Amino acid sequence: MSDNKHVKVLILGSGPAGLSAALYAARAELAPVVLTGMQLGGQAALTHTIENYPGFPEGVGGAQLGELFQKQAEAFGAKVEFDLANAVDFSQRPYKVTTDSGEYTADSIIISTGASPTLLKIPNEVELTGKGISYCATCDGWFFKDKKVVVVGGGDSAFEEALFITRYASSVTLIHRRDEFRAGQILQNRAKEHPKMNFILNTVVTEAVGTDKLESLKLKNVITNEESTIETDGLFIFIGHVPNSQMFKGKLEMSELGYIKVNDKMETNMPGVFAAGEIADPTFRQVVTSAGMGAAAAIQATRYLEEQEATHSQA
Ligand code: NAP
Repeated sequence: MSDNKHVKVLILGSGPAGLSAALYAARAELAPVVLTGMQLGGQAALTHTIENYPGFPEGVGGAQLGELFQKQAEAFGAKVEFDLANAVDFSQRPYKVTTDSGEYTADSIIISTGASPTLLKIPNEVELTGKGISYCATCDGWFFKDKKVVVVGGGDSAFEEALFITRYASSVTLIHRRDEFRAGQILQNRAKEHPKMNFILNTVVTEAVGTDKLESLKLKNVITNEESTIETDGLFIFIGHVPNSQMFKGKLEMSELGYIKVNDKMETNMPGVFAAGEIADPTFRQVVTSAGMGAAAAIQATRYLEEQEATHSQA
């Protein structure tokens, strides 16, 4: 990329929100540029099979869906750059975005930087990540062929990913801090009926043990305070996400948890800056809702740019 490139619409992030925004902005002939961020396709691309995106009755691979989104947006003139935004300057227009490879100026920006997995914050978690501890079953499940795996969490992600890991592992033990799950009933039933799955309830993991690789986990029953140890080759953690909004701190209004605040038009408090997908949605976090938010943000960005142009031509 050449330095100081100017675009009408710059989209930060290439998950379902970003690529849907790109499709709509491209069809409005705004030649949007998408900066992919670390993960092309966002978190959805790390999901093995997506069964609830309309139009795919047999389900669709997360990475495959991302590629289809990208292909469709590019067919109408969107450009997808493998680049990462590091800093934004909203103090003057056009807005400035500094990336790994240079600098962009943009008349409008759509932020769809998504979210990252929450850490358990237990001793040795960081040290043993990639050495038995993982946050992505699609990426790492294969390494646990015929091995014992523990999954932590009680939501849809934990259940979906635990079921995926049963393809490889000899056993999958799901550990949850309560005795009720947030996961949908279909997933719960599937998991409870699966012969490789076991459950340990009312229990938290307090420490990961191992030096070069994970060997065991220390557990504590939150009702009886009883402590125990479970031997395991793998620990997969699915306990929610934190929004990737650090770059916008002090620059855009956010919730206490760091989600960017938007109104029903996906507008942030900065004119011409929109947010869509999980960065602005602590509630639904579905591929289809993120895609919808991305489309809405692009429609509104188009209106904003038209109004700007009309104002300038009258001046
Ligand atoms: P989630 O629904 O927020 O569930 C997080 C789980 O982790 C909860 O069970 C929570 O326990 C547990 N947890 C949180 N912090 C913990 C900690 N420090 N230690 C131990 N456990 C902890 O997150 P998610 O499963 O990632 O799902 C996020 C959203 O995406 C949801 O809206 C979900 O429906 C959606 N999603 C949908 C699908 C699908 O439709 N197929 C697939 C994946 C995700 P508590 O229950 O006690 O709070």
